[in-house]
Amino acid sequence: MIPVVKPFLPPFEEYKVLLEGIWERHWLTNMGPLATELESKLQDKLKVSNLLFVTNGTVALQMAIKALDLKGEIITTPFSFVATTSTIVWEGCTPVFVDIDRDSLTIDANKIEEAITENTVAILATHVYGNPCDVEAIDIIAKKHKLKVIYDGAHAFGVEYKGKSIFEYGDISTCSLHATKLYHSTEGGFIVTKDKELNVKLQRIRNFGIAGFDVFTDLGINGKNSEMHAAMGIANFKYIANISKKRKELHEAYSEGLKNFKAIQPIWRDNATMNYPYFPLVLESEELLFRVREALLKEGIHIRRYFYPSLASALPYLPKQMLEVTEDIAKRAICLPFYYDLEIEDVKRICEIMCEL
Ligand SMILES: *Cc1c(COP(=O)(O)O)cnc(C)c1O
Repeated sequence: MIPVVKPFLPPFEEYKVLLEGIWERHWLTNMGPLATELESKLQDKLKVSNLLFVTNGTVALQMAIKALDLKGEIITTPFSFVATTSTIVWEGCTPVFVDIDRDSLTIDANKIEEAITENTVAILATHVYGNPCDVEAIDIIAKKHKLKVIYDGAHAFGVEYKGKSIFEYGDISTCSLHATKLYHSTEGGFIVTKDKELNVKLQRIRNFGIAGFDVFTDLGINGKNSEMHAAMGIANFKYIANISKKRKELHEAYSEGLKNFKAIQPIWRDNATMNYPYFPLVLESEELLFRVREALLKEGIHIRRYFYPSLASALPYLPKQMLEVTEDIAKRAICLPFYYDLEIEDVKRICEIMCEL
């Protein structure tokens, strides 16, 4: 069986050594030494100004919305994982969907301004499959209309745009360190902001809004992560280069094997580095997608419709909205098996099966 994703695991001995330290210290959570170490390792590696390790990528988004004190309409993308939208609703705000750009699959910056009303307070967009949004155009619009910008960078670990971490763009960026992401801490996530004061506020929000002994300053949540999760993040940390190298090889093998296949890959933004979190394809038709899925499944190979369906038309707690490009792309988009343990030979076999269709 070949799954779509399979979490990377470090050698068990290396994780065990870190666990033994936890057992000795009896310090399990509340920003213990491993969580603090992981935080600074990530901050250095990604070259970002302030980084907070949190429970997961979803809570990271909730905390971002809360910290910016957003109330009203938030312009967002319908082509993302459901957490991008559900956190907006969870925080009592209203998502306003703007269609995506056909090439990059990120929010279409040219369509943002027409969606702005007097109630618009922010833009929350996703760097889809790690591919950066048009951060410059979004920045101009945000400044002009005094909007806050949050980027859901759950897929964007390690991506740089114009020589700078993609997490340094916007007011706040979030990332997920979930087991299925390219680098993970089992469950986990982080928040990046250039703004020092905002970072301190986020720190308090992460810890129930407690500012010090017996002092509550903010409405907070429990966004802390545990030492066990941090241990996984640290154990995986030194394999990041290996993981990236392997993913690049897999990506190249797929691209080569499918160069004549009736599908296109999203067009990566100029001046941005690639991080290979997934292998997404937009097939020629939904009918072809069904045939690909069936042919691969017969061989025990799984694919995923990611992202499908459109968040603008499929969520029971929101009015249905059909956005032309998103509806069309979501119908035809798939992610093929893509993970560290996947063999190049398997990629070749998958490509052969698909090319025979
Ligand atoms: C994975 C993911 C999230 C949620 O992250 P969790 O760590 O699983 O909570 C949010 N947005 C996108 C785009 C994701 O892919």
